[in-house]
Amino acid sequence: MRKGLFYFRPFAILTFNMETPKREHLVRDLKNYLIHLKDVGYTEIPCETELFVDAQQVPAPSRSHSLSQSNSEMANNKSLAAVQKELGDCTRCKLSEGRKTIVFGSGNPNADLVFVGEGPGADEDEQGLPFVGRAGKKLTEIIEKGMGLSREKDTYICNIVKCRPPGNRDPEPDEIAACNPFLIQQLKAIKPKVIVALGKPASSTLLGRPVPITKERGTWHEYAGIKLMLTLHPSYLIRFYTLENRKAVHEDMKKVLRELKK
Ligand code: URA
Repeated sequence: MRKGLFYFRPFAILTFNMETPKREHLVRDLKNYLIHLKDVGYTEIPCETELFVDAQQVPAPSRSHSLSQSNSEMANNKSLAAVQKELGDCTRCKLSEGRKTIVFGSGNPNADLVFVGEGPGADEDEQGLPFVGRAGKKLTEIIEKGMGLSREKDTYICNIVKCRPPGNRDPEPDEIAACNPFLIQQLKAIKPKVIVALGKPASSTLLGRPVPITKERGTWHEYAGIKLMLTLHPSYLIRFYTLENRKAVHEDMKKVLRELKK
C-alpha cells in the first residue's frame, strides 16, 4: 500500500437508493471520520473499484489497514491519554446518541497482552469500563484463574467500538470504521507483545476480512508485527458452555502464555 493511502470500504454502505434520514446519518458520520483522518495525517483516500461496480453487493467493510501503515502514515505515536483526549466526547458515529459513557479501555498502558472485545454492554456503559458485566467476569476468570495473570497489572482491555450498540446488537460497519483509528492508536500506544481478539467482530476488524471464528480460533496471525491470537468471545463461552468450547479457549490461552514467555 502506498504511503498516505488506505482503502476505505465503508463508502460501500452509502448507497444512492438509501432512505434520506439514514443517508444523512451516514454522510455525517463519514464526514466526521474523514475530518479525523485528515487530522491524523491522511492525504488521500482512494475507493476500491468494486464500490463502483455494485456498492450494495459489497459485504461488510473490511480494512486492509494495518498498524505499521498507520505508523508511517499517522502522526507520531501518542500516549493512551492523548488518544483518549483526541477521542473526546465523541459524536463521530450514531452510537454516541444512545450511550451513557464512552468506554475507552482499562488496564496497564504498558501491558504485554491486550484483549480486544466487541463493544460495551449495559454494565460497561453504566460504569465506563470494559468487560465488567457477566462476560467481563468470565474474561477475568480466564485471565486470573486460567492464565495466572493479573487483569489490572498484566493486561489492557478495550473494544472495537467504544460506545454501547443499542440492545447489544453487533456494531455496524460505519461504527467500527469511525472507531477504528482510536483502536489503532491505542494499540500503537501500548505496543503489546500479543493481542487477543475476542470473537468474530474483533477478529474480523483486526484482520480486515470476515473471520469464521469457530474455525479460525486458536490460530496465530499478525497485526502490524504484533502476534494476534483469535479466540471465542466470553459471551459465546457463557452461552455455549460446553467442555469443547472451554477446552478451546484454555488451549488458545496456553498458546498466548507460551508466546508471552518467549
Ligand atoms: N462484551 C464486549 O465485547 N466488550 C465489553 O466491554 C463487554 C462485553
